[in-house]
Amino acid sequence: MWGLLVLCTVLPDADVLGFKMGIAYGDLWGHRGLTHSLLFAGLLAISLLPLTPKLFRQELGFGRVALVLFLAATSHGVLDGMTDGGLGVAFFAPFDTTRYFLPIRPLHVSPIGLAPFLSSRGLHVLQSEVVWVWMPALLIGLAGHHWRRFRGGRGR
Ligand SMILES: [Zn+2]
Repeated sequence: MWGLLVLCTVLPDADVLGFKMGIAYGDLWGHRGLTHSLLFAGLLAISLLPLTPKLFRQELGFGRVALVLFLAATSHGVLDGMTDGGLGVAFFAPFDTTRYFLPIRPLHVSPIGLAPFLSSRGLHVLQSEVVWVWMPALLIGLAGHHWRRFRGGRGR
């Protein structure tokens, strides 16, 4: 299940392959275009649903497992929409190809490609992600973990 969730979070950036094929950044199939849309996230979630562990589907039901996959895929576009660079995210593509940013944009945009990412600029990006993504996610995860233990302890 973790592998599928990670796949949902990284697959939207497969659109960078379009640069090699001559697809412009701002095109429907360009970077942060259709593959970052809510429609793509929904289709991805539905297509990966049969690959999820049977135990998850039995305990949570198809709808909740699909929702988790959808939220994982959507999180990519949301975080891209919180960056300080690029053209924004086509959340509503293909129906509306307008590129959007969120009102809060504390994340530094990541350079495209491995070599630029392994520079001091990449380190700068990672620092902003640690502060605005990783630390809050860790705190929420720990709070959820302790909440479950607390609730589980009360019921016994
Ligand atoms: Zn992206």
